[in-house]
Amino acid sequence: MEQSQKHIIGYSFKGRPIWAFTCGNGPKSLHINASVHANEWITTIVLLRWFMKMNRRYRKTYLNEDAIKIWVVPLVNPDGVDLVMNGRRSDWKANARGVDLNDQFPAGWEVERKRRGKLKAGARDFGGDAPLSESESMALHDLVKRTSPDAVVALHTQGREIYYNYRDFEPRDAAWLAKQMGLAVTKNAYRAVKLSNSDAGFKDWFIQEFRKYGFTIEMGSGVNPLPIKYHSTLLIEFEAMMNVLCNFIAGHTPTNKEYPPKYK
Ligand SMILES: [Zn+2]
Repeated sequence: MEQSQKHIIGYSFKGRPIWAFTCGNGPKSLHINASVHANEWITTIVLLRWFMKMNRRYRKTYLNEDAIKIWVVPLVNPDGVDLVMNGRRSDWKANARGVDLNDQFPAGWEVERKRRGKLKAGARDFGGDAPLSESESMALHDLVKRTSPDAVVALHTQGREIYYNYRDFEPRDAAWLAKQMGLAVTKNAYRAVKLSNSDAGFKDWFIQEFRKYGFTIEMGSGVNPLPIKYHSTLLIEFEAMMNVLCNFIAGHTPTNKEYPPKYK
């Protein structure tokens, strides 16, 4: 099988490399990123641990390695995470320049800017002076443009919710798929939530640009940054959701009686 590979897809404002890792070699592909928001750094640990597990499972043909290729970008905002962890700014979501990387994407960027009303750099919610003005968001944008994945997942904390839509550009069964992912988590399912009045996020841009499946998963509950001791629980929950998504993307027909979903 194809070995796992690593790539530098760009550099942060302070010059830290932004890494991407791949495994599998399928015609279908899935992109997952984490720590776009600085004080949500626990998502990096969850994603890396899941990716290492996936790598091992590929060898046991858990998923056919020729069916699906997985791209992960576990640390999109390394400068911001450093600020939270070493600068003790627990409220900080933005990058080192005070730009919120999840308000940076060219999908209703102006609308989001007006809605937020934030015109200056700061800990959160400032979308920059122009879409993709930041090297971190540009790196993510360029990677996705180049690799054209069949689905993307952006990992955030917290709220135990899955957002799946953007201005009705999403595939018709995206709501159903989000619901199945959420139900796969035992004990406390994650809720599939249809968002309105939200623009300029990574998944918004992906859905608008590609008309494919884009999800933001708000993992866990509590106050950001979530304590590191949560990461094992979050990994179990994430794995359950990704099992559903990977199987779906790989083209395994769901046996669930609810499929195909009924449309209103
Ligand atoms: Zn977030």
